[in-house]
Amino acid sequence: MADDVPVKPVSQPDELTEPFFAAGAEGRLVVAVCTVCGDMRLPTSATCPTCLAEGLEWREVSGKGTVHTFAIMHRRYHPAWEPDLPYNIAVVELEEGPRLPANIVGVENDDIAVGMPVEVVWEREGEAPVPRFRPVA
Ligand SMILES: [Zn+2]
Repeated sequence: MADDVPVKPVSQPDELTEPFFAAGAEGRLVVAVCTVCGDMRLPTSATCPTCLAEGLEWREVSGKGTVHTFAIMHRRYHPAWEPDLPYNIAVVELEEGPRLPANIVGVENDDIAVGMPVEVVWEREGEAPVPRFRPVA
């Protein structure tokens, strides 16, 4: 890659989300679960959007789900993504229920379909682990 291609500004761990990224670095997908009502929440938030309690624990999930919806991006919104055009952005509904925005990899954009079974694959952007999904064979 040319030196003048900018780095993608991907999500970085903070105090709240560090366990999510630490698990991802090990190839595991974890979701925050409310310790009061049991609801899973993505994106991770300090308080439960269902019952407003603050406690959370992390639960490993299967990493399997289906494409809930997706779009193909043809326009450059940030120069770091220009080499990837056209690229996809999907919302994957995990088997356990939460929905996670992510790219679908290992398939041509024209072959992505709503309802397609997928599984998580952790890739890296620089040092940061990034969850993406590939079709289940
Ligand atoms: Zn709750």
